[in-house]
Amino acid sequence: MNLLDRITACLLKIGKFRGRPAESTGLTPLPAPAATEGRGMIVQAGWLIDGSGGAARRNVRLEIRNGRIQAIEAGVTRASGAHASRPKPDIDLSGCTVIPGLIDSHVHLTMTGDVDDVLRARLREAPFEVVRRMIQENLREHLRRGVIAVRDGGGCRGNTLRFSNSHHERGQPVRVLAAGRAWHRSGRYGRLIGRPPDRCLALAEAIRQDGESADHIKIVNSGLNSLTAYGSQTSPQFDLDEMSAAVQAAAERGLPVMVHANGEAPVRIAVMSGCRSVEHGFFMGCENLARMADMGVSWVPTAVTMQAYAKFYRQVGKNPDVALRTLDHQLEQLAAARRLGVNVALGTDSGSPGVHHGAAVIEELNLLMQAGFTLEEAVRCASHNGAQLVGGTSGLLEKGSPATFIAVNAAPSRLPNELKRIRSVFIDGVKQLEAG
Ligand SMILES: [Zn+2]
Repeated sequence: MNLLDRITACLLKIGKFRGRPAESTGLTPLPAPAATEGRGMIVQAGWLIDGSGGAARRNVRLEIRNGRIQAIEAGVTRASGAHASRPKPDIDLSGCTVIPGLIDSHVHLTMTGDVDDVLRARLREAPFEVVRRMIQENLREHLRRGVIAVRDGGGCRGNTLRFSNSHHERGQPVRVLAAGRAWHRSGRYGRLIGRPPDRCLALAEAIRQDGESADHIKIVNSGLNSLTAYGSQTSPQFDLDEMSAAVQAAAERGLPVMVHANGEAPVRIAVMSGCRSVEHGFFMGCENLARMADMGVSWVPTAVTMQAYAKFYRQVGKNPDVALRTLDHQLEQLAAARRLGVNVALGTDSGSPGVHHGAAVIEELNLLMQAGFTLEEAVRCASHNGAQLVGGTSGLLEKGSPATFIAVNAAPSRLPNELKRIRSVFIDGVKQLEAG
């Protein structure tokens, strides 16, 4: 059996690729439709959460033309709409909550959420054909939960970038923004998601000379969180001069920088360097949060990773206390970030052990709400705030914005958990998925 067959067999054994999500969930991917042109369509929504953080509105009519929202009118039921001799809705979602298409601002598409170390190691070495199928599977899982764009934090062989730059991405509706391989200091954490600069090159020079046509630059500036010593912090991988020069080199290539950083010093250097976003940010402290609010640096907190570690540790009989306390601390930081007005963008780190593509978005939304965010604010983190990192959309449902939304078969009071039961997904006014 060759390597491809062995890895595929391994994946089949654990349930990956066994049946398509469409068959197992009742959601049907639709054939690529033509863009809606000419005559518009009227959508009747039971509730609308528009991505701004404002309260859900009841009985909303959306008029859509050429893939964009032409008008929004609240307080119109099907009956009152008919009485006022308005046109009948083309799509009746009166039992549904409509929210913007979601953005997961931190994923690793070349990894799965499986905790089996042997499988994870094999996948890192797998041929591109296997990786390509896994990425497509992961993207289907995202779409099933209403995720319409993902921002990838890197892989050791840069295969997400290869996927997004190749024809393989065409025909699948989820936008992929890829870092390729992340940068880390030689001998420090980051080997699994990237590479160090060549021995003779400074980080900035390596970025300048790099030929990969990435969507953003990912730099690793700390270690991982300890799961055994609560609150222990690692030293920065790069100093402020190195990081500032790197951000400048990325800017010369027109690319924003996302920085993996935990702990006060690594995050302070990242923020002061002018990076676009801090990823994880465990134990960064309130001074850094205040600085981020002032400087407009986004935070992608990936709290669900600690919840996943705690669950896994319990399953294998290890002590989950440090992971749980770290999660609690992150939720306290989130509450502070909300008070300070930091741009919090939802990201899951999907592909980390126990963090599953798509499903983890629901868990992270729940954690934001545990930290004190309202449902509407949590949705904003996963739409408008994420859109500031991925571009191409405002992440809002307002007049003039793309008609990119999901309909969930439930009232807002049953969100975010009911994202498991999405009725349909529209991107630019075109239906991508429909509940069967
Ligand atoms: Zn990551």
